Amino acid sequence: MNEVFTRRRTLVLKRGKERVAANKHPWIFAGAIHSERGPEDAAIADLVDGEGTRVASGFYSKSSQIRLRALTFGDDVLDENTIANRITNAIARRRAIFEDGSTNCARIVHAEGDDLSSLIVDRYDDVLVVEIANRGVEHLKSLIVDVLQRELKPRAIYFKNDLPLRKTEGLSTTDEFMECGSEAAAFKAATSSPHSIVLESGLKFNVDPEEGQKTGFFLDQRENRRMARELANGKRVLNLFSYTGGFGVYAAAGGASSVTNVDISARAIEVARENHALNGLDAQFTVADAFQYVRQSKEQFDFLVCDPPAFAKSRNEVERAARGYKDVNLFAMRMIAAGGLMMTFSCSGHMPIDLFQKVIFAAALDAGRRVSFVRRLTAGPDHPVSIYCPEGEYLKGFLLEIH
Ligand code: SAH
Repeated sequence: MNEVFTRRRTLVLKRGKERVAANKHPWIFAGAIHSERGPEDAAIADLVDGEGTRVASGFYSKSSQIRLRALTFGDDVLDENTIANRITNAIARRRAIFEDGSTNCARIVHAEGDDLSSLIVDRYDDVLVVEIANRGVEHLKSLIVDVLQRELKPRAIYFKNDLPLRKTEGLSTTDEFMECGSEAAAFKAATSSPHSIVLESGLKFNVDPEEGQKTGFFLDQRENRRMARELANGKRVLNLFSYTGGFGVYAAAGGASSVTNVDISARAIEVARENHALNGLDAQFTVADAFQYVRQSKEQFDFLVCDPPAFAKSRNEVERAARGYKDVNLFAMRMIAAGGLMMTFSCSGHMPIDLFQKVIFAAALDAGRRVSFVRRLTAGPDHPVSIYCPEGEYLKGFLLEIH
């Protein structure tokens, strides 16, 4: 067996904390642990109760408050095969997304949603972008690479290492790029670039994992972008927080009478311009702070998309974030012609759906508009959420009708 799986740390659960493992939540916090023994730099740890019976096993990190990212519970075995099988299953679960050939990008591994806490893998055509947010997982890099190479035969694997969390974990925050030539070319120096032009629902998009935000593209919005394409016909569309024009391109493809993309990042707007051109579609582009834009613009729209970044990065920022969401939604609602539509989102994991609904209520009230929900919106099926870890549900939104 791989040494990573034999050199294990043992964590002893505090008396009275038995529920932690019984509920199968994958995050076991330091506060639930009585004592630890075994190698401190182990990738894998077993959690045992007061009697020494194993209750969970998972990725270990001595520098994180989440001491154990549990992958298995009770006496289920955690070894190389467990990890390999979970990656293989995650890939198999997404086959339908790629089947008709009109989409070649999607999230392949969604951390807890695929029972692989701290691991994210995004596929952009023949490039895979990997995000590892935990010390234990970092030790398993070569195993992960082997499985990904075997199953997906990528041209390259890009390790997006700029996550702030990696710093806390004592891991490198410099990205790594690995070309996967013929035979196991693991960690060979790169000569080409991780940039690709992907296909999503038959539309083309530039994705640059190196310079782009997150892993390069917001794959979680694919289904909502499709809905936007279906709703946009003949409408004047405003795409606020457009990033590289995702919703704008879909709306234009759906027959919008006009599309305006607004983002604060000049680079994002430049790529948005390229993306519209790639698909032979017209639009307008504005580099601006959306908060100021919605206050100042006198234009009216029939369909508005509002997809801001996560305003609440931690629990104590939720109140401030709620004010930000209310502000932008209030002024955005005022720009919508009677009977128009709005897709509004929050991607803050710390903002629960009921609070977001209250924020939209407050915005509607102050905007003086009659507002109804047409649909609730979430991330696509390549972003599954484990019922044992509801924290994984970060993207939420509403399709609203505004009168
Ligand atoms: N809807 C997009 C993703 C949006 S991500 C898609 O489908 O691809 C959020 C975007 O908000 C980022 O591009 C970021 O640059 C932008 N942003 C952040 N703060 C902003 C602000 N104050 N005004 C305008 N854009 C902002």
